[in-house]
Amino acid sequence: MSPTVLISIDDAELSSSLLMELGKFDDITVCLPQDSNAGDAQMAVCWHPDPALLDKFPQIQCLHSAAAGVDHLGESLLASGLPVARIVDPDQKQGMLEYVLWCVLNHHRDFDRAVKNQAQQRWHLYPQLPANEVRVGVMGLGEIGAHVATGLAQFGYSVLGWSRRPKQLERVSTFSGPSEFTGFLEQVDVLVNLLPLNQATQGILNQSLFQALPKGACLVNTGRGGHLVEADLISALETGWLRSAVLDVFTVEPLPADHPLWTTEGVIVTPHMASSSSAAMIAHQVHQNVLRFIKDQPLLNTIDRTLGY
Ligand code: NDP
Repeated sequence: MSPTVLISIDDAELSSSLLMELGKFDDITVCLPQDSNAGDAQMAVCWHPDPALLDKFPQIQCLHSAAAGVDHLGESLLASGLPVARIVDPDQKQGMLEYVLWCVLNHHRDFDRAVKNQAQQRWHLYPQLPANEVRVGVMGLGEIGAHVATGLAQFGYSVLGWSRRPKQLERVSTFSGPSEFTGFLEQVDVLVNLLPLNQATQGILNQSLFQALPKGACLVNTGRGGHLVEADLISALETGWLRSAVLDVFTVEPLPADHPLWTTEGVIVTPHMASSSSAAMIAHQVHQNVLRFIKDQPLLNTIDRTLGY
């Protein structure tokens, strides 16, 4: 009997694209929770899955995130003890570099100020700094963060990076752990968050972090909404300590229409679009892993459940 993969994804479009892409492999069976064969599933591919997934489908023996992050699985599934794999995708890394590069250029070349000035028919030139005088700090130097940091360095920016463990990256000044965090922040004009969301990083983008940044810095949050204390950001922007913020991820998505971040001066809101993987790429990696699973081979791109990433 071929291995069965259950799709537990709360996004109808992604769910149906994955059903189609996984359905192209004739050596696996794909199903949705309402299908009669769902009880046979050994693996579930997830995006904000049903928290009661394992009670309903007890044959499931491993979980596959349909994304790079795994926080959306929720505490109970992450604590279930089952192996968890995630997506690692070169196109997604490059897409993130493109997004962050735009954010950095927006700050560095004063496009944000030019747009504001246009609204007041104001013609004003700002002095042009060379890229190496703009310091970009990347929080999280994993699969995506390391690609972004080295890509920005190749573009000529002065790049600093911070991770949990010490790391060496070409042309990037690296910092690690809580003891080197403030020293990192103090040297950053544009701070890019690419950390995973877990207990250690929840709420890390808060008032004390903003105070450690130089006045006039820009925040780019492409990690998760739960990293950011929204009220602290609004206050840091209103007092003029921070110049701007580009936010791609939010605690509640879609961002509710009456949310203050839509209209806070200095904030650019994008709809969790920084970078995504194609359904074909997700299906390819899930397919590879379910075949490895039934052959008792180690899964690719698993997380360390004790660390939460
Ligand atoms: P990885 O797991 O590969 O890397 C995580 C990085 O964060 C590592 O460098 C790790 O350090 C560091 N880190 C983790 N915990 C801490 C901590 N407590 N203190 C300091 N550093 C820490 O993740 P990816 O690069 O693949 O993805 C990162 C995140 O990007 C995802 O979890 C997701 O939230 C977000 N994302 C957002 C997208 C969007 O469209 N907005 C798209 C894709 C991803 P170390 O190297 O020492 O282990």
